[in-house]
Amino acid sequence: MVLADLGKRINNAVNSALSNSQDDYTTTVDVMLKNIVTALLESDVNIKLVFALRNNIRKTLLESKSRSVNSAQTKKLIQKTVFDELCHLVDGETQPYVPKKRKQNVVMFVGLQGSGKTTSCTKLAVYYSKRGFKTGLVCADTFRAGAFDQLKQNAIKARIPFYGSYTETNPVKVAQEGVAKFKKEKFEVIIVDTSGRHRQEEELFQEMVEISQVVKPNQTIMVLDASIGQAAEQQSKAFKDSSDFGAIILTKMDGHAKGGGAISAVAATKTPIIFIGTGEHVHDFEKFSPKSFVSKLLG
Ligand code: GDP
Repeated sequence: MVLADLGKRINNAVNSALSNSQDDYTTTVDVMLKNIVTALLESDVNIKLVFALRNNIRKTLLESKSRSVNSAQTKKLIQKTVFDELCHLVDGETQPYVPKKRKQNVVMFVGLQGSGKTTSCTKLAVYYSKRGFKTGLVCADTFRAGAFDQLKQNAIKARIPFYGSYTETNPVKVAQEGVAKFKKEKFEVIIVDTSGRHRQEEELFQEMVEISQVVKPNQTIMVLDASIGQAAEQQSKAFKDSSDFGAIILTKMDGHAKGGGAISAVAATKTPIIFIGTGEHVHDFEKFSPKSFVSKLLG
């Protein structure tokens, strides 16, 4: 089930509970929860998270003094509780690093090939550049043929200074040189794109560790394709172990992504989503906040 449909299904579940004057309060709550649970599971949200959400909502609603959905107060409580728990589901709990002006902020990207890493690097570079940060892009992907050209083209189009090499095959060296060059030139946000593989491989993780050791990132961001479903959780845990990323960018939220798997990755790694990619264009990029995401989801 795609995210837009998930929102509709949750709304329908809540609205039919609010207009139910036949069943008793507990039955109304349980029917609503059953529908919400089914919708979340069909969107690939992790089963443990779904049951935790259900139990939390149930506990709050059944502890309330008002036991009739006919009262305005109860209606409000039901809506608020569902909303709060959905926010809790997509809230990474920790605060992400925020680049500071007049400081040299190094941001390293990790993620599998095709997840939208290079595209997101440029999007983030444009985001900070527009906000007055002197921003540069480093292409440390020496694995994929054409990776440097892709980053270069994106960077030229977006007028972002870039660094890379056609001849150097050691990504650690390219990363180190690029960051050193931009640091010398007093850049404030230095974004390092790294290589991905189609699958998680030992060498990839080893490479992430080595690059991280030389560029010493202030922030590591994992890029996650929102359409990958249940695999998101395991994938993000593996990256967390090797690169200890502190933030997530979810891409392809414009497509027919179920999104639930990616949402589960947030909870599995207790890491916040900071931006979402909503298209291929450089401006198809939105700052993420749990509340506005859930508000939009529910329409
Ligand atoms: P990388 O291999 O991880 O660096 O991935 P790329 O940045 O090359 O992106 C892979 C494909 O996904 C490209 O065709 C991008 O245009 C596309 N892409 C990246 N982000 C988004 C997004 O948010 N929405 C959509 N629809 N496509 C995206």
